[in-house]
Amino acid sequence: MSNNIPFINAERLWNRLMQMAEIGATAAGGCNRQALTDEDAAGRELFMSWCRDAGCEVRLDAIGNIFARRAGRKTTAAPVMTGSHLDTQPTGGKFDGIYGVLAGLEVLDTLNDFNIETDHPVEVVVWTNEEGSRFDTAMMGSAVWSGAMTKEQAYQLHDLDGATVEAELQRIGQCGLDTPRQPVHAAFELHIEQGPILESENLDIGVVTGVQHMCRYRINIRGQETHAGPSPMSQRRDPMMAVARILSELYQLADQHAPGARVTIGYIRAEPGSPNTVPGEVVFTADLRHPDAQHYAAMLAACEDSVSSACTAFKLEGEATRIWEAPGVSFDANCIAAVRNAVCNRNYPAMEMISGAGHDACNIAAVAPISMIFVPCEDGLSHNEAENIRPDHAAAGANILLDAIMECALA
Ligand SMILES: [Zn+2]
Repeated sequence: MSNNIPFINAERLWNRLMQMAEIGATAAGGCNRQALTDEDAAGRELFMSWCRDAGCEVRLDAIGNIFARRAGRKTTAAPVMTGSHLDTQPTGGKFDGIYGVLAGLEVLDTLNDFNIETDHPVEVVVWTNEEGSRFDTAMMGSAVWSGAMTKEQAYQLHDLDGATVEAELQRIGQCGLDTPRQPVHAAFELHIEQGPILESENLDIGVVTGVQHMCRYRINIRGQETHAGPSPMSQRRDPMMAVARILSELYQLADQHAPGARVTIGYIRAEPGSPNTVPGEVVFTADLRHPDAQHYAAMLAACEDSVSSACTAFKLEGEATRIWEAPGVSFDANCIAAVRNAVCNRNYPAMEMISGAGHDACNIAAVAPISMIFVPCEDGLSHNEAENIRPDHAAAGANILLDAIMECALA
């Protein structure tokens, strides 16, 4: 590297983060800018205006993904791509997704400030409906772009009021042209960690090498409703007895496959839900994750075994249904190397890690070389109005993104 190493403008980046956070701001200091709402539209318009000010060509595709391109010397070369999402959870924070998008824009502005011409174009992308809170498919825009989902499937998704993705895209004027996917030279997604590891290790940067395997089960156990008083315990067919055993076995699984394993029981419902009636049915979810394919497969098999053997033992019927599964992802070795080089050159304390959450990068990885960069977030909190990051960490991540993009875009 030359003596004249470019640095991103930390104040400009932070100011834009705070300006974006005013759109859909909540009383508790968070953001409610759910996909394809008026607030999302306003955030998108603000972003596009900044991109045009930076001299970018801005284009929307048919699912509302925004592509802001800074031209390269080789006009026909595939772009180096970066980006994330601007939509939030209903009680979301200021940084999840937004940071990656605005840091990408900050890289473009920095290239402009330092008059750096790249060979490849550099593109900042906003992926539509990453959160999946209003329309129940997370990472929707990147799924359509990468071919994991058809545009028609996405168009039909609707919110609780029956408004479809297609109608809402039209209503807010964010539906662009149905263009074929262009090749990508390299891609990076910069994101807040959404977990506590970097902060607890006192590190500035996570060099993300992949995403863990994830599976969500819906488990239904059926028995017989009966009175809580007269029926002896031995004669009941009580699904909750099975649930008690299954839950304890699932948490044991987490111990057996530690430290990588994650087991979350986030939803449980007993029917009819009366204190003095033995439930006739219990429904609950189990979200199982592991970075290692073998451990992961063993966890799924054990979960399914646990459900069927508990049903047999308590004379019940039931099944564990996989309602959502995302296979793990290994990111591109060259992209990871570019991030690693940037960390070395800038001397930021860093570690290599696996992402615990899904990101648009998982979809992109199926069709383009990509890796991710994490920065710490306060107390590991995310999907929370109190979500926060330190301005110096925001700057560090953007500088790493700048270097990684330059390494790929100059060659
Ligand atoms: Zn996100």
